[in-house]
Amino acid sequence: MMKSVVIVGAGPAGCALACLLAKRNIQTTVFDDDKRPDLLVGESLVPAVIPFLRRLGIEEDVARISEKKFGAALRHPNGQRADFTFRRLGKSVPNYSYNIPRPEFDRVLRNKALELGVSFVNQRATLERQHNADCDLRLSDVSMQQAGLHVQPDLLVDATGRHRLFSKLLDLPVSHGERDDISYFAHYESFDADNVVDGQVVLSVLDCGWAWQIPLKDKLSVGVVLNKNVARNFGKNPQERLENIINADAVLSQSGRNRKRVSDVMAYSNYQLVSQQAYGKGWVLLGDAFGFVDPMLSPGVFMALESADLLDRHIFAKNDISDTALAAYAKEHYQWHRDWDTLIKYFYDGRLLNLHKSGEEMVKNSSRFSLGRFMKWYIGRVLSSMVAGVSTRSQYKLAVLKHCCEFLLKDEDVSQYKIKSNSTGVELESSDGKTKRPLDQQFV
Ligand SMILES: Cc1cc2nc3c(=O)[nH]c(=O)nc-3n(C[C@H](O)[C@H](O)[C@H](O)COP(=O)(O)OP(=O)(O)OC[C@H]3O[C@@H](n4cnc5c(N)ncnc54)[C@H](O)[C@@H]3O)c2cc1C
Repeated sequence: MMKSVVIVGAGPAGCALACLLAKRNIQTTVFDDDKRPDLLVGESLVPAVIPFLRRLGIEEDVARISEKKFGAALRHPNGQRADFTFRRLGKSVPNYSYNIPRPEFDRVLRNKALELGVSFVNQRATLERQHNADCDLRLSDVSMQQAGLHVQPDLLVDATGRHRLFSKLLDLPVSHGERDDISYFAHYESFDADNVVDGQVVLSVLDCGWAWQIPLKDKLSVGVVLNKNVARNFGKNPQERLENIINADAVLSQSGRNRKRVSDVMAYSNYQLVSQQAYGKGWVLLGDAFGFVDPMLSPGVFMALESADLLDRHIFAKNDISDTALAAYAKEHYQWHRDWDTLIKYFYDGRLLNLHKSGEEMVKNSSRFSLGRFMKWYIGRVLSSMVAGVSTRSQYKLAVLKHCCEFLLKDEDVSQYKIKSNSTGVELESSDGKTKRPLDQQFV
């Protein structure tokens, strides 16, 4: 019988798992260093998180602080724009999601965990590497004391996000993604959201990368994503770079012509990273500490919550901490990353906008009940449900997407809509000179 678990990190992954464990009466302690900045990425949620929020009984609290979101869009400087609405996802699926102020969202989750009896230690956890048959890591005496524990926990969970505490202590190998991007973002007032449905998140292809506009209550979150080296050409510091990148884009600069920045500018880099080992003797990785694919399509917070649910289902629901159970958890987690990565590539490599353009052309001169119209409607529905996180892993829908692209785009030059990985469009190389492998060819 599992008695106690220590989770390091009180972000969405750590707090969600803590809630699930508390419901199973497993003594749970969460460490958090409380060193979070006031502004955090992870503001746009996909509809697939809603069932989880309902399960924890926190949807109303989240709704109170958030902007309801009914879709997303991808647009190109040449005017091409693909709008996805969640309104036609079907009855069994929530047809909306939320854009959240992240620190407040994390507080809602933490308060729920507290209400369920989880203990929090507002300190940085310290761990020591071990070289014995039973465990690879142990909590230091100081951390044990802070947690009020006399016996080492049955399982240590790394939910430290991109800090990747355990991976660094254990020197775990990682898989990097193809892109070497940096992201700058801030909150603005008087910046047009350019949305066609409420809360719609708009992603714009830029000359040098892409940008997001996420409507929040009374504010707009604006972020840009581009190659790290290219970013240096736009200014000396994150503030200058963000402003200059916005100014360099005709559409964004127009939408933000009266903008007033109301927050600091935050920078994030090196985030396309998945650990090649997910568990070991007495420990397991969760959320971003396990891996993160890419901010395009906003899978992060959903994956953090899903990660907690997967661990709960594979390990705690069965009270089975064996290697077999942990391997099953890791396998399903990797599969999620692979499937998000596959879908995200359709956006990056230009196929999605090309597909959209072909669909528009197909319906232009066709009658109301033509096959072309039906196909456009059907592909739109398939894509919306995949982007929503509801059927991202459906092999049937991935196959529909693949075959539609092969059939409709066979004579098209899809590179015209590609989101560049650097200013010249040349493929990126890693520092050792080898071309980076796409994430979907890794962790097999
Ligand atoms: C540019 C960018 C844009 C993004 N946009 C979105 C988006 O729109 N939507 C979305 O869903 N996701 C987005 N994400 C991803 C999302 O932010 C993350 O996937 C999500 O926050 C992961 O949650 P987590 O709980 O795993 O980690 P985190 O949220 O990082 O939480 C980790 C916690 O651990 C704590 N910690 C670290 N080290 C220690 C230690 N030693 N001891 C104690 N505590 C510690 C930290 O302080 C923190 O509280 C984006 C990511 C990037 C890089």
